[in-house]
Amino acid sequence: MSLPATTRAIAVYPDHPGAVHRTEIPVPQVGPTGVLVQTIRVGVCGTDREIIHGALGTSPPGSRELVIGHEVLGRVVAVGDQVHDLLAGDLVSATVRRPDGCPACVAGQPDMCIAGDYEERGIVRQHGFMTEYWVEDRAWIVPVPKHLESTGVLIEPLTVVEKAVRQVDLIQERMAWWQPSTVVVLGAGPIGILGTLLLRARGIDVTTVARTPQPNPAASIVEQAGATYVSSREVSLDALRNQRGNIDIVLECSGASTLAFEGMHLLGANGVLVLLSLTDAGRMLEVDAGRINTGIVAGNKTVVGSVNAGHEDFAQAVDDLGRFESLWPGLLNRMFTERLAFDDDVTSIARKDARGIKTLIEFDQTR
Ligand SMILES: [Zn+2]
Repeated sequence: MSLPATTRAIAVYPDHPGAVHRTEIPVPQVGPTGVLVQTIRVGVCGTDREIIHGALGTSPPGSRELVIGHEVLGRVVAVGDQVHDLLAGDLVSATVRRPDGCPACVAGQPDMCIAGDYEERGIVRQHGFMTEYWVEDRAWIVPVPKHLESTGVLIEPLTVVEKAVRQVDLIQERMAWWQPSTVVVLGAGPIGILGTLLLRARGIDVTTVARTPQPNPAASIVEQAGATYVSSREVSLDALRNQRGNIDIVLECSGASTLAFEGMHLLGANGVLVLLSLTDAGRMLEVDAGRINTGIVAGNKTVVGSVNAGHEDFAQAVDDLGRFESLWPGLLNRMFTERLAFDDDVTSIARKDARGIKTLIEFDQTR
């Protein structure tokens, strides 16, 4: 086939936030190690909404607009002559962050970058994947097995919790004995749900806490995976702490900065609290510093932040999506509460539907 010269895309003007628009951008040349991909679908996440509203997002050099989208599933169209392990038609996703020259990036861990000059597709100085065609170097392409065609768009959000749980495992190498049996997940958005499924797949008792009382779609998904859903309007975190005994892991992915401190109190002895929410500055809070500090010291507790993900997390996410599907057939698909076509009114993605979980932009329908 002849390769496309331009591609339709969904973009924002970072200097004039508040709305998304359709645009057309050139398709880059496919270099020797490049891969040209045709998008099947892209997931919309909270970061995309923050970019639309101007909280973050930087255009590529020389461009006023930034194509958004970093949760992608696509099909290989063509590869450079040094790429021998991918064929046209293969399913792929891609990692998000591209390294700068800092020691952590050079050592192969751009997700642990210390300089902060990295680029991210769809977020920082590189166009994202809400486009019919895109080109990426093979180094950042993630092959996806055919049986994940319907769910593979969840690989990138799943890597966020894969990295979080890997951090917990690394930290807990400090313990001569540690058998996590009780976990609390704060938040039941896509990250909270995927964290719940990941820990349930390990056979751990999970309680997922969110504001909205039952019934709601997120509660139904986590309960079908054998977790307990609790509305924070009906049960206080103090009551939960008394009910659940020693809580070994708390994953904070609610988006509420105040819950970082609640999580420190909720966490049991030798436990690990992983903070996953990026939150705005300016939220002031009065806390019982004495109680929290003593709890952390006397309980050997660890509080760790985690962002982005490494190559190993993408590989693990591909494996685990397959495991989730065999453990709970059809469950992941229930996370897709809205599907839009490229030609639909995509301006609606700027707003969060309170009961919706994951909005997808379906690009296949545009052909
Ligand atoms: Zn770096």
